[in-house]
Amino acid sequence: MRKVVKDLENIPTQLVSQDAIDSLQNIIETQDKSLIKSDIYRGKYIKLDGSKGDAVVEKLHDIYHGKCAYCEERTQIYIEHYRPKGRVQSTKHGGYYWLCYEWTNLLPTCHECNKIGGGKADQFPVKNKHLTFEDCKTNQKLDTAKVKASYLNKNEAPLLLHPEIDEPKEFLAFEIDVNKKGISITGLDGINGRGFKTVSICNLNRESLLFNRLDYINDNIKNGIRKILGLYSKGSISKETFKSEMKEFFEDLDKDKTISTKTFTLLRWFILENVENFQKLVIPNLPIKDQDIILAYFKAYKNGDL
Ligand SMILES: [Zn+2]
Repeated sequence: MRKVVKDLENIPTQLVSQDAIDSLQNIIETQDKSLIKSDIYRGKYIKLDGSKGDAVVEKLHDIYHGKCAYCEERTQIYIEHYRPKGRVQSTKHGGYYWLCYEWTNLLPTCHECNKIGGGKADQFPVKNKHLTFEDCKTNQKLDTAKVKASYLNKNEAPLLLHPEIDEPKEFLAFEIDVNKKGISITGLDGINGRGFKTVSICNLNRESLLFNRLDYINDNIKNGIRKILGLYSKGSISKETFKSEMKEFFEDLDKDKTISTKTFTLLRWFILENVENFQKLVIPNLPIKDQDIILAYFKAYKNGDL
């Protein structure tokens, strides 16, 4: 998960169309959630060539660079209602049906993070209390300020992080998986904190993610280091060149972590944040004979001595 900025002034027209306003009114009056139209929250439209498009899916795809809001893998995008529209699992709450077309409630996710049975689905635990439709009204009318995720999050204190409101760096960390299968993600704010809960709600330690995070380290970091070390040990480059190549390599990794189109940018940031993280996640994946020298070079890089 990475922090994402969504333009709240640039809402897909389908979400604020007369059709959406009428449909929402109808849903509110009847409280019939079967009247929620997926064509509206997906932003169905007809393209110039006559084919069908999904404007909301396309916009979320652009904002999130084709990545899942929760796991940061590049994926086919499905629209997820951050606050479930139909029901809230393990509660008597009937779902936030009045937020079915609310822009700040719509996130792009992969199938796995949001699936029923093993994904987020209708889970939405909060620290305070789940707000109701009545709580979002002012003078008997739905208040447009009270349907925004920022207002609701302040009042409910949900355990699931919202990538457009929260800074995931403050809540999440990475470590080598206990079964040594790969890299797992963990919470920084205690077992009942928002980091841990987000990981468990979205199942962010499923096997494929553990492997894919480790693949990133092996493909991008381990192999890069091996290439430079190989040239040095064969005598193809001098010690000075080796030093400058290593510096350039670390600088490139530092640049990559800021590029929002890349996958796993939170992991990229975490690894490079300090020597301790690099030592914990990268060094054990290197051949034992190379571990000390690479750690020393990374320490020098962080100290500005490389
Ligand atoms: Zn995902």
